[in-house]
Amino acid sequence: MTLKEMLQQSRRALFFGGAGVSTESGIPDFRSQDGLYSQKYDVPPETILSREYFYRHTGEFYRFYREKMLALWAKPNAAHKKLAAWEQAGILQGVITQNIDGLHQAAGSKTVFELHGSVHRNYCLKCGRRYSAEQILEQEGVPHCTCGGLIKPDVVLYGEPLDEETVGGAVAAIRRADLLIVAGTSLTVYPAAGFLSYFRGERLVLINRDETAFDAQCDLVIRGKVGEVLGDIDL
Ligand code: NAD
Repeated sequence: MTLKEMLQQSRRALFFGGAGVSTESGIPDFRSQDGLYSQKYDVPPETILSREYFYRHTGEFYRFYREKMLALWAKPNAAHKKLAAWEQAGILQGVITQNIDGLHQAAGSKTVFELHGSVHRNYCLKCGRRYSAEQILEQEGVPHCTCGGLIKPDVVLYGEPLDEETVGGAVAAIRRADLLIVAGTSLTVYPAAGFLSYFRGERLVLINRDETAFDAQCDLVIRGKVGEVLGDIDL
């Protein structure tokens, strides 16, 4: 059965995505050949994006973060747009994403569980005042609040727990789904990758450029670019 036929038969389809969903928007992922992990850094990106590094080397953290993670120029691609259209049409329940770029919302998706937070939310650690991503980009060096407090992006750094409410919503949505489309993720980042084990529905589909350890468990594996694959399906 094709993905199109599965979508036509489904009543509660759900999408679970990772960094590969945004590569067609020009944002590099982590583990592809041209991903951030294959570029040479003195300190590995996993270390820079950790809680400990944020507090100990805040200036260095922000240098990397502004250059590599704050991709405010990026626009939604065919995958983001198709998923938003399917939600609007009642075909898709929503999206669970490991991405922090906000591109699903920019495309018009309403139900989005951002497991790892968003670059678009930033807050002062002292007084809680909120700041936009543009305000973080505008400030030079370490961004500070008008009260003098340090501003932290609302993204889940390595060593930090996921937000409980987001996790609860995502798990409930996975349990309800009858069709789960997993795409653009190496399924190596935990606990996010472990969420697939909550799926009790009928069909599990994986769209990914590279092989993953979960391929054998899927009912359908599509080896391709998620924007091209979804963009070609008209329901
Ligand atoms: P990953 O880098 O580990 O894996 C990406 C996977 O997507 C790879 O298997 C690759 O083959 C595949 N891929 C790349 N482009 C694709 C495309 N166009 N179509 C289909 N498949 C494609 O990414 P991950 O599993 O999401 O884990 C990385 C972590 O880094 C995530 O937790 C995420 O929060 C974070 N991250 C986010 C962004 C973002 O917000 N855009 C970017 C980089 C990393």
